[in-house]
Amino acid sequence: MEKLVSLAKRRGYFFQSSEIYGGIQGVYDFGPLGVALRNNIKRAWWRTMVELRDDVVGIDAGIIMNPRVWEASGHVQNFTDPLVECKKCHQRFRADQVSGPRHQEDGGEFTEARQFNLMFKTFIGPLENSSTQVYLRPETAQGIFVNFANVLNSTRMRPPFGIAQIGKAFRNEITPGNSIFRMREFEQMELEFFVPPADEMTWLDYWKNQRLSWYQSLGIRPERLRLRAHGKDELAHYARGAFDVEYEFPFGWSELEGIAARGDYDLAAHQRASGKDLSYFDDIKRERYLPHVVEPSAGVDRTMLTLLIDAYHEEEVRGEQRVVLKLDRSVAPILVAVLPLSRKEPLTQLAQQVEHQLRPYFRTEYDDTQSIGKRYRRQDEIGTPFAVTVDFESVNDHAATIRSRDDMTQVRVPLASLKDALAERLATEG
Ligand SMILES: [Zn+2]
Repeated sequence: MEKLVSLAKRRGYFFQSSEIYGGIQGVYDFGPLGVALRNNIKRAWWRTMVELRDDVVGIDAGIIMNPRVWEASGHVQNFTDPLVECKKCHQRFRADQVSGPRHQEDGGEFTEARQFNLMFKTFIGPLENSSTQVYLRPETAQGIFVNFANVLNSTRMRPPFGIAQIGKAFRNEITPGNSIFRMREFEQMELEFFVPPADEMTWLDYWKNQRLSWYQSLGIRPERLRLRAHGKDELAHYARGAFDVEYEFPFGWSELEGIAARGDYDLAAHQRASGKDLSYFDDIKRERYLPHVVEPSAGVDRTMLTLLIDAYHEEEVRGEQRVVLKLDRSVAPILVAVLPLSRKEPLTQLAQQVEHQLRPYFRTEYDDTQSIGKRYRRQDEIGTPFAVTVDFESVNDHAATIRSRDDMTQVRVPLASLKDALAERLATEG
């Protein structure tokens, strides 16, 4: 884990937020490769969950919502963690994460646990009082529930159908940690799938399998993924059933995504609080009902961390250690690096031409700094599946060498068929 965090910083995947000022706990900034990886994750999710289906549509709701949303959803009352404070040093901890009645570091006694609400508060407009207080959303799901009727009335969607959303959410975690695993500002990819009440468990079963196979499709090793059913004691009182997709992180099996059957809890709560009818009338069966909901809720950050951890390999090559990120081609920030063997003309000019020709088809990068060995090492470390090396011979034979990240084989390919050769390799390997 430490090695990965150091690689992430060294190569520009993620940094501590506002690092030059000492950082801020629970918030991370994403560098050039990080944002590319995140965009690829989000694109893959949206493609699978929205574009390739005819029963899901997307929305993008505001981060700040009418505070009544969070009263109705139960977040104002119940979205809390138990908090204790050390009477000596006044540090605060989550009660379920300390052992014993005293702070181990200084022997200070802990206060009684009290409930601490995890929603960030701010004010809307120029007045700062209780009537202008609003929250940063702690989940994207409620933006979907309060728009249920809008989507129903503005589209031809009928249950069973889903509404998907990707966006930032905020939770004032008492103890954020494990790098980007638990953050105070994070990004969710959520689907609320509305179904006839009798079909809820069938759809829960369907979505848990779909979601597990999505992670496998990103190249994550199947033996490090599993589905875990929630025990009765873990379920929210309204939930009919829930599963976690778990990954075997260096710190143990942990939740990567939750899939829950939420009943009609959310729509019923908003219908009651808003006084607006959120029911659906099935005009074939002639019945009116509040749809039940199955919710697969994924995180961009946890998916990113999982992909990086799962792809991280250390190998011994001819007596030297090689660090390589074996990222799947669907998510790798760069697919093809174009490298002139040396920084001399006419090599650099030819290599730049080659990179420009490939750019419309692949995510490419041109690099002519340092020795070729160091450049290969860098591309291995950031997970680039293929490098194209332009050498002095290329000027005469109009060919270049494709080097594969995973098996380090090299093949000579005519420049004219470089694009097709790369496309074929990306479709079958990497
Ligand atoms: Zn203390």
